[in-house]
Parts: sequence; C-alpha cells; structure tokens
Amino acid sequence: MEVCVLASGSKGNSVYVSGGGTAILVDAGLSARELVSRLKQAQIAPESIQAVLFTHDHSDHCSAIEVFCKRFPVRLLANQGTSEGIEQSLKGFTPEWEIFETATGFELGGLRVEAFSVSHDAADPVGFVFDDGATRLCLATDLGQGSPLVRAKLAGCHAAILECNHDPELLMASDRAWTLKTRIAGRSGHLSNADAAELVRTSLSERLRTLLLAHLSDTCNTPALALAAVRQALRAAGREDVRVEVLSQSRVSERFVL
Ligand SMILES: [Zn+2]
Ligand SMILES: [Zn+2]
Repeated sequence: MEVCVLASGSKGNSVYVSGGGTAILVDAGLSARELVSRLKQAQIAPESIQAVLFTHDHSDHCSAIEVFCKRFPVRLLANQGTSEGIEQSLKGFTPEWEIFETATGFELGGLRVEAFSVSHDAADPVGFVFDDGATRLCLATDLGQGSPLVRAKLAGCHAAILECNHDPELLMASDRAWTLKTRIAGRSGHLSNADAAELVRTSLSERLRTLLLAHLSDTCNTPALALAAVRQALRAAGREDVRVEVLSQSRVSERFVL
C-alpha cells in the first residue's frame, strides 16, 4: 500500500491511498487547483484517482469537490449525513454520490474499506481503515476523543494517520475566542497531543510499524511537541522501532510505502 498526504491541517486535508490496484483520495479540502498541483508534485496523475471518499462535511475536507469532479471522472463516496452536509455548501451542484453505511465494510476494487464513527461536530463523521490484503492503514483525524471503537480500529493496523491537533497550554494561551477554544478541546473537537499519545499507548499492537501525525494546529502546536508526546508513549512501551513522522499543512509528504 502506498500513502501520500497532500495536506493536513485546518486549512485543508487530502490523503492519497493506493493499494489492491485502486487509487483514491480521502477528502479534498484544498482548492481544486492546489489539489492538482500537489498531486503533480507527488508525481501522481490526477487522472489515476478513481474515487474520493469523505470523512465529514467540514470545508477543510471537501472544498475541491465541485471543480475537481467536474474535471476528473471520479466516484464520490460518503455516508448519507456527510453527503447532505456537503451538498448544503454547494450552490446549484448535486454530486452523484455513492452512499456507504457507517460501520460497514465495502470494496473498491482490491481495496477493502471500513468506515467507523468518530466523535466530532459534523453531520456523521467517520474514520477509515483501508486493507489491501497485505497492509491495514487506519485514518483517524478530526476526533474530539478516543473511544473503544477507535482503539480497536487502530489496534488492528500496521500504520495509522492519527490526529495530534493541539497542545492544551498553547491552545488556552492563544488569542482564539473562548468558544472556539472550548470547541477544539471538547469531546467533539480535536485530539490533543496527550490524547493522541494515550490512544497510541492503549491501542498499541505488535503490528504497528508507522505512525503519521496529522491535523496539527498551526498556532497551538509544534511538530516537536507532537513528536515528543507520541515518542514518549512508544518509548514507555519499548516500541521505539515504530516510525513516526509529522505531516504538514503546506508541504506534500513523501510517498510512504507501508
Ligand atoms: Zn479538519
Ligand atoms: Zn472537522
């Protein structure tokens, strides 16, 4: 399986996943022009993308949908709540959705997909597990808290893209409005570094090889803080062999072969 994170953070998210002969994007939250530019930077032909799957209906995950799917003939997949939420932001354009049920699995060619519920203030937000028969990848970003379900999904995977959104002290010291601070830190907001480290600690299995830290706040976190929190959890468990990388809002990641 191959993964390339085109962007990660509150200004836009999109992840390329390729496995089992299928190439997809998870979310398309940049401008379509920027999305195409970043695919080209990663030497991925936009025409090779067969489908876009959406985690939820916030604009940092879906803003490219109209322009991108008019230009490239991709399948669009979301659950009912997310599809309706995204449609509300589109004026006069109705995508041809393929609706999946949350908590079920489905196949996209040779790639098996499971969508699972996460706690976030969107219509019906999900994380995903992708399985190409050799590798299982969990994508869990935009979640206010871990849950037994999220832990179980992480525990079965060889690799994970896991949210490390903020450092609580930097969040509270920031000049954001109080209501926004409580939203971010709340149970339906975003995962702190410490919460992410705790999720790693409590879901750690022998399978895990790669952790990609995602959706970092640009003002209330630093790559060093996120890395330190997660690496400490891995060190305490004797798992310093797990590769940990921090993803970026502004830069395309390397193409990780998982
Ligand atoms: Zn987001
Ligand atoms: Zn969100």
